[in-house]
Amino acid sequence: MTLYVVGTPIGNLSDLSSRAADVLGSVHAIACEDTRVTGKLLSHLGIQKPLVSVHQHATAGKLREVLDLLGEGKDVALVTDAGTPGISDPGGLLVQEAAARFGSALRIVPIPGPCAAIAALSVSGFPTDRFVFLGFPPHKKGRRGFFDRVAAEEEVVVFYESVHRAEKALAELSARVGSRPVVLCRELTKLHETVHRGTVEDVTRALKADTMKGEFVIVLGPKGWVGKGGRV
Ligand code: SAM
Repeated sequence: MTLYVVGTPIGNLSDLSSRAADVLGSVHAIACEDTRVTGKLLSHLGIQKPLVSVHQHATAGKLREVLDLLGEGKDVALVTDAGTPGISDPGGLLVQEAAARFGSALRIVPIPGPCAAIAALSVSGFPTDRFVFLGFPPHKKGRRGFFDRVAAEEEVVVFYESVHRAEKALAELSARVGSRPVVLCRELTKLHETVHRGTVEDVTRALKADTMKGEFVIVLGPKGWVGKGGRV
């Protein structure tokens, strides 16, 4: 029995690795977040498999269903709606439960693939030997503390934000970090991929000027960093 933790595209379907496709085609069942999203990916690949949804509010019964398959010696793949399971999505839940139930009797095998945070870091131009990843800011309670923590951080900070709150997040950053450099990545690997670079103020202006919606990764440069030739 093996649980394969499979990275899937964050937009561009061609980013699915051939190893990921082989694994998805070979397992007994696929645990996923939203069956409609994973169904589309599978139909693109021409693969038909039983899907079990283990989304954020999945019942204990659904998790048990997957654990029981593993207990029967079946191979299962875990995917989420986009990117690497467990990175700011519910993918980690099944891995935790499976590790707790089977310990080292279960092989848990990563099939690495895209991750929005890593893709954003890779084009940021900031020194990324070290970075701090903070997932999503809380919507309400704890939001202020989140941005205080971001501002206090010396290293590169990367975090996710939804379309509804990206502008608000930049305003919260601006109030704390002034002209520290930032890179705002939207819709990576998709048709309307955009990367805005500059001070927090520059990037806020650029975001306000364009009406396009999308999914965002925000990368804040390290404290005191000045880019090549003074360019952010
Ligand atoms: N597990 C995923 C990963 O490995 O990146 C992240 C899942 S999290 C629920 C979804 C968030 O990731 C989005 O709200 C956005 O902040 C970020 N994200 C996902 N796809 C993206 C893309 N194509 N471009 C920019 N950000 C993206």
